[in-house]
Amino acid sequence: MIATRRSFLRSSVAGALSVAGLAAFSRRSLLANGAVVTESQFEVIKVTRTMLKLEFRPVPRRNMDREIPHWRYSELCDITLKCGVTGTGETLRFYTWGVPPEEAYSRIVGRSAIEMMWDDSLGAGVQMALFDAVGRAAEVPVHALLGSKVHEKTPLSWWNIDTSAEDMAAECQEAKRLGYMSYKTKGRPWFDVIKQVSVAAKNLPPEFKIDMDFNDTLRTAERGLPILKELDKYPQVDIYESPIPQSDVEGNRKIADATHVKVAMHYGTPSPSTVVRSGCCDGFVAGGGASKLLGIGKFCEEAGLPFWLQLVGSGITAAYSLHFGGSLKQALWPAVNCHQLFEHDLLQQTIVLKDGHATVPDRSGIGYEINRDMVEKLKVETPATRPDPDRLIETSWPDGRKMYTANNGAVNFMLTAANEDKYPFFETGAETRLVPDDGSAVWRKRYEKARSGGPFLEK
Ligand SMILES: [Mg+2]
Repeated sequence: MIATRRSFLRSSVAGALSVAGLAAFSRRSLLANGAVVTESQFEVIKVTRTMLKLEFRPVPRRNMDREIPHWRYSELCDITLKCGVTGTGETLRFYTWGVPPEEAYSRIVGRSAIEMMWDDSLGAGVQMALFDAVGRAAEVPVHALLGSKVHEKTPLSWWNIDTSAEDMAAECQEAKRLGYMSYKTKGRPWFDVIKQVSVAAKNLPPEFKIDMDFNDTLRTAERGLPILKELDKYPQVDIYESPIPQSDVEGNRKIADATHVKVAMHYGTPSPSTVVRSGCCDGFVAGGGASKLLGIGKFCEEAGLPFWLQLVGSGITAAYSLHFGGSLKQALWPAVNCHQLFEHDLLQQTIVLKDGHATVPDRSGIGYEINRDMVEKLKVETPATRPDPDRLIETSWPDGRKMYTANNGAVNFMLTAANEDKYPFFETGAETRLVPDDGSAVWRKRYEKARSGGPFLEK
């Protein structure tokens, strides 16, 4: 039956092709020409992968290079359907909710993109490319494939890793200049979080919001609350994410009760029903594949809890994320896409923010065109393993203490050390910087010591 349908389509479109080329396969022209619309036009016939190395803008660069320089590697996945339409997806190769498994690239060939696109196990870039391709072929935006559009506009947050107070203030100003109304960053014991917020807030209106993700580093409610209560005083401070381990339901509930600032947790731990019962947080961070995101969206709609979308990459991922923002009712907190980190967003036209919101596009697919000249320029070989150059990081305090940390082959080597209590706990005046390798014996000696033994204090 399928063979018959396919040969019929082939013969019916062959005529159209000779007249109008591949564009004749679009839904509109097929309908206009009276041809039968069949799912076989959505068959995946080709998959191409392109590795890119994106450069960070100067402020993120000097801060991202401490712990996560490997966020530069973005793999584009182009999927061509039988109808001639190509869709594109993106995977941040060393930081994503799902690296496509090798078999995913071959599994989809010869299959219907419509049938495959809801399979989260295909990974970020492949799934995104399938949605984009199906949307472009059907001449509908991705949000129409997800459900009804319930928001015309959707909020986005600027994102940057933890930085000096001065860098944070500069980034907040840049975010505001470009129409953002929120800045999300990390709360870390190796910086003075109160100074960061007070310096940044000085030139910001109270409507501009600052969110801090502690990734558990405040450890317990008892230790964390004095710091949070201090931060609470700034009207810009709006959300604390994972202040202490999420599994500590009672501790998180204490924090949520004690502060007017909202508490966010990554969806999943503790169970969403425990969150509703205990009130241990006010909303969620939602990441992952399309099926998972729709599930989170449904739960949050029933429970009346907000969340932000966290889909990380260049402007391509940010554009894709806009469609989830448009179709998920509770996507009320600003999305974190991190595309602001990079010198170039890979789009022909950048996503424009006004009053903290971007318009949910109604154009086909992800609704944004990719800058192919830039893609050509940024092409690199795929690294065999995660690039992990030697880095020495210095943390210092006003009394002259200096502490050194080195990368140790693991991701989040500083965060892990913080959660093992290896740094002084959120002390006033803490500053941290990458120490450039000047080729000296002193640098090498400190590096080797920190690499083998973990962060050490130099008296
Ligand atoms: Mg987080």
